[in-house]
Amino acid sequence: MKCKSLAAVALAALSISCGKSQAGRNGADTGAEADVQPQPAAEVSFDADSAYAYVARQVEFGPRVPGSTAHRQCGEWLASELRRHGAEVTVQEATLTAFDGTQLPARNIIGSFNPQAAERILLLAHWDTRPWADNDPDRTNHSKPVPGADDGASGTGVLLEIARQLSLSDNKPGVDILFTDAEDYGTDGDDESWALGTRYFVQNRPEGVTYRGAILLDMVGGKNAQFRREYFSQQYAPQLVDAVWAAAGMAGEGALFSNELGGAITDDHVELIKGGIPAIDIITFDPANGFPPYWHTVNDDMSNISAKTLGSVGRVMMTYLNNI
Ligand SMILES: [Zn+2]
Repeated sequence: MKCKSLAAVALAALSISCGKSQAGRNGADTGAEADVQPQPAAEVSFDADSAYAYVARQVEFGPRVPGSTAHRQCGEWLASELRRHGAEVTVQEATLTAFDGTQLPARNIIGSFNPQAAERILLLAHWDTRPWADNDPDRTNHSKPVPGADDGASGTGVLLEIARQLSLSDNKPGVDILFTDAEDYGTDGDDESWALGTRYFVQNRPEGVTYRGAILLDMVGGKNAQFRREYFSQQYAPQLVDAVWAAAGMAGEGALFSNELGGAITDDHVELIKGGIPAIDIITFDPANGFPPYWHTVNDDMSNISAKTLGSVGRVMMTYLNNI
């Protein structure tokens, strides 16, 4: 994903407002405000070490660049893990065209819990990794792939652990876990080149399903992570941001979830918003310093990943799910 310039934000806000008004007509962007009641949360279960192991396992496959062997193998493993945890799994296969004309063999992997529930929550993370470490201070690394421990594997790892927790729960909410592909094959200055898998999902979304909201986890495993209210999330799904931030307070993780406004990030959630699904992005981004220094470099590896951060995010998500 990329952070947008302020000029780009103004343009994007205009274009997205079309999607927002459509959402309003569908009534799809309502109902999140009463999600979390201001009462003490019951203890939630989330195993940070298990989430960490899920992140490490993805990194072990190698960079998950669409078209690579590591990508194919990791995709099969992700689907099998969701099945093992009792999800009803749907795999959307598509050949997506990248900005440079490359044909990307892409798979969106969807695991549904309590599939009978008509009103659902969508939890998503991208599982592909960027083919080029083009933010690396060493230019000779720009043509090398990003290991994607934080940028890709962290959100996916937290969601796999949530899937495992849901498999152990008697009272499952209607949750779809979506691992999106081809998020990070984009190029500077072309917003349409990012989040290709999510755009495909929006165009081919499951029939008869209403998503009351969507929560994207991206770069949620860093040692010094801080989650601010991302611009588009706050602009287009403020009630859902409030509900998740309230869950953070209930889970005792208020220090990690800051009320400051974060950056405006071109990421999977923007495609969902355009498609009428109220969506938010939980992402590490500091308006003063940008993304963490390892972002889009060859150093986005396990040395930057903290089980503590993964556990905090996971507990916030489980608290949110327990209170909807
Ligand atoms: Zn990225």
